[in-house]
Parts: sequence; structure tokens; C-alpha cells
Amino acid sequence: AFTVAIVGRPNVGKSTLFNRLVGRKLALVHDEPGVTRDRRRHEARLIDLKFDVIDTAGLEEGGADTLPGRMRAQTEIALAEADLALFLVDAKHGLTADDRTFADILRRSGRPVVLVANKAEARGAEAGLYDAYALGLGEAVPVSAEHGQGLIDLRDAIVEALGEDRALAGETAGVEGEEAETDVAISETEEDAPDSYDETRPIRIAIVGRPNAGKSTLINALIGEDRLLTGPEAGITRDSISVDWQWRGRGVRLFDTAGMRRKARVQEKLEKLSVGDALRAIRFAEVVVIVFDALVPFEKQDLQIVDLIAREGRAPVIAFNKWDLVEDRQAHLADLHERTARLLPQIRGVRAVPVSAETGYGLDRLMEEIVATHRVWNRRVPTARLNRWLDAVAQHHPPPAVSGRRIKLKYITQAKTRPPGFVLSCSRPEALPASYVRYLTNALRDDFELPGVPLRLMLRSPD
Ligand code: GDP
Repeated sequence: AFTVAIVGRPNVGKSTLFNRLVGRKLALVHDEPGVTRDRRRHEARLIDLKFDVIDTAGLEEGGADTLPGRMRAQTEIALAEADLALFLVDAKHGLTADDRTFADILRRSGRPVVLVANKAEARGAEAGLYDAYALGLGEAVPVSAEHGQGLIDLRDAIVEALGEDRALAGETAGVEGEEAETDVAISETEEDAPDSYDETRPIRIAIVGRPNAGKSTLINALIGEDRLLTGPEAGITRDSISVDWQWRGRGVRLFDTAGMRRKARVQEKLEKLSVGDALRAIRFAEVVVIVFDALVPFEKQDLQIVDLIAREGRAPVIAFNKWDLVEDRQAHLADLHERTARLLPQIRGVRAVPVSAETGYGLDRLMEEIVATHRVWNRRVPTARLNRWLDAVAQHHPPPAVSGRRIKLKYITQAKTRPPGFVLSCSRPEALPASYVRYLTNALRDDFELPGVPLRLMLRSPD
């Protein structure tokens, strides 16, 4: 296994994350000045990863006499024992000079670093998340250590930073000494890797929709009921949470809401998933397939589900199910596309596929669109391209003057992927009309081919 050190300035939530990973509610979560604690090391679990975690909380209170000095000492001790640093910042309260000092130390250490923006559930935390990008350590993973949110993304980031071989070594074989020592990969800066889409990682899918839209039928059609019964021998592993299989050589992991539902039915005769279950499925997933009943589409509940997915920043694909029951197919499809564009503007360009879970019609196409959407959701647009684009926009479609003064567009960068998020600096961002922000968002979507996924655009005044 490997060792992870949690580092960061006081009060960003290191102990809370430590406890979350270790799975207990022990240690002090409030930093009490003057209380010196030992660096603690403990076995930890994160989804399927097993590792040792070192909490450095408290170390900053002893040792060298300046805070940067203490932080350096703390970090160096921790890094000496660690394979990877989880660098915690506070998205709620924003960045401080100490965070930047820390970032420098970590960058120079040459260790793999996963930047973690904690307290991401807080109102206004999104700004902090984008700020974190300026630390030059790549994208921050938003988490809430306190509420246990974002842990799946954290797991993925750790696997990416360490490499799969290394990160999963402790788990797979279970035979000690079998895994060769592999070199730790130093994480690349994202600027140099404009579109590093990883084909080898399984796509995590959830299937959601109103009761009776056909979710269970679709899930069974996708994975094949027979194969399901034959279990692991056929290459399918199934537990209470997910089902893994391959589609055209691509790994797919499906969050099995149907299985959960069946269980619920037995226990409590529930006819539908609770909102909590749907939300859990959405958070688990990268791509969310929204199952609409093609004969009764766009019900209020359908629209609420789409909203939830957009807010959670997941990549949506719509399946218009029960297509075998549709009579005038061509006209009906045109009508559905028109209504999709009109009623779901927040995911403009979303891929929508007619399917029949019952007959198997359209399922291959559905899978193709899932993969395509996943790719878009992961897309990174190089900064140079974005700024050439911004120059053109400023020339041909400049922001309107507000109270007699022009608003200047200065600089744009993509601060995150999954979903794509951009930061635009401009003079007087608060004065930029909403209609113009909408125009920019749509233009980004069209000009950089980002259809159908939620997009974020943050405005900033230049530093
Ligand atoms: P869930 O509540 O969303 O999981 O919906 P189910 O998968 O249980 O399906 C609800 C009902 O719709 C069942 O009676 C299914 O047999 C039926 N159904 C599901 N998909 C299709 C389809 O593609 N065509 C037709 N004709 N019926 C379907």
C-alpha cells in the first residue's frame, strides 16, 4: 500500500478529513491553539483504496518560530514518509498567503500532490474552488470532509496522481510481495496536457428517472440478465453498489439503483427510489442516463431530475424509452428534440436517444452517446486557444457599455473539467449583464464543442 499525508494551514479541515478517511470520530476537530498533538498515522479506506494516512494537524504549533517555518518543517516531515500529499485548502473562506507558501513548498518537493478544496458544500465555496486553481497545482477536488461529499472524486484524483498500478496495488491481489515496486508518477501540469482523456478508466454511470420510466428494464437490458445471473465468471462483478462490465472494450461501472430498489421493495414495499438514493446515484456517476417515458416525457419530476444533474455538474444523456410503443416515430422524435431544446436550456445540446429497453432497440447508440458525452465532460481547452477566442469576442461582440463605461474582457482560462469550468477576468464583473454572460456561455459551448454538459463560467476582476 501507499502513504498519504494530509497537509495544509491550520483550520482547513485536516483532522476532519483524517477522521473521515480513517472512519472514526476520534481526534479533536477544532484546532486549539497551544495544544500540540503528534502527527498521527492510521490505516485508511477510501472507496476501494487502502492506504496509510498521516495527519499533520497540530504540528504547526511547535518547532520553528515563524509560521512558514513551521509549515515547512511539518510538510517536510510528512512528505518524507508519504508517497502523496493531499493539500487541503478552505474553499469556504478562500485562500491566504499561507496557502500559497504551502503550494510553493509542495511544488518544489516534486511529490505527487492532490489539491483538495474542502468545505465545498458551503455557500460561495465555488469562488474558492476557482481561486485554488491559481495555486498552480492543477484542478482542486471539491470535497466536504464534514459531510462526506466528493470522496469518489478524491479517490479518482489519488488514483490519477499515483497511477493505477500503484494506487490499487494493495487491493487487487491480496498476496503480499507480489506487486513490484513501481515508480511514483509525478503529476503533470494540466497546461501541458490539453486533452488527456483516459480511455482505460471505467466510466461510471447511473440510470435515473421517474418510477415506471423503465430504469430497471434498461439496466437489465444493458448488462444482460443472463450474464448477470452467471456472475463473476462472465466478467461481471456485482455487489450492492455497482455492476462492472465492458462495452466494446471500454470498462463501464453502473450504479445499481435497480438492485437497491429491489431490496427496498422487499423490506419496505417502496415503489420508488427516494430522492436521497437518486442523489447518491447522481453523485456516484460521471454520466447520468435520464430515462424518460417517450409517451409521457417532460413531467415535472423529469425536469427536477435534470436540474439536479445540472447542479451537481454531471454529464447527462437522455434515453427516450418505450420507443416500441411510439406510432409516428419521425414526427414524435422531432417534437421531443424541440421540447428538449426549449425545456432544458441548462444542458443545451444534450444527447437524446430513442430506445426500447424491452426490445433492445437503440442501446448501442445510447452507449456511444454515453462515451461521447463523457469525453466532452472531461475536455480541456488550452488557455492560448481560449484567449484567442476572447480577443475575437472582444472585437466582434464586445460587452455593452454600462453607465457609460465599457467593460473590458481581459483573460480567460479553464480552471476545471468534469464539468468544464472557466474563469473570466474582466473589469467590473458585477456590472456585466446576465444576457451577455449567457451569450458568452453559449459561445464557449458552441465554439469549443462542449454540447450537452453543464458549463460553469465564473467572473473575476483582474488581480
Ligand atoms: P422503473 O420504475 O423506472 O425501474 O421502471 P421498470 O423498469 O420497472 O418498468 C416499468 C414498466 O414499463 C414495466 O412494466 C416494464 O415492462 C415497462 N417497460 C420498460 N421499458 C419498456 C420499453 O422499452 N417498452 C415497453 N413497451 N415497456 C417497457
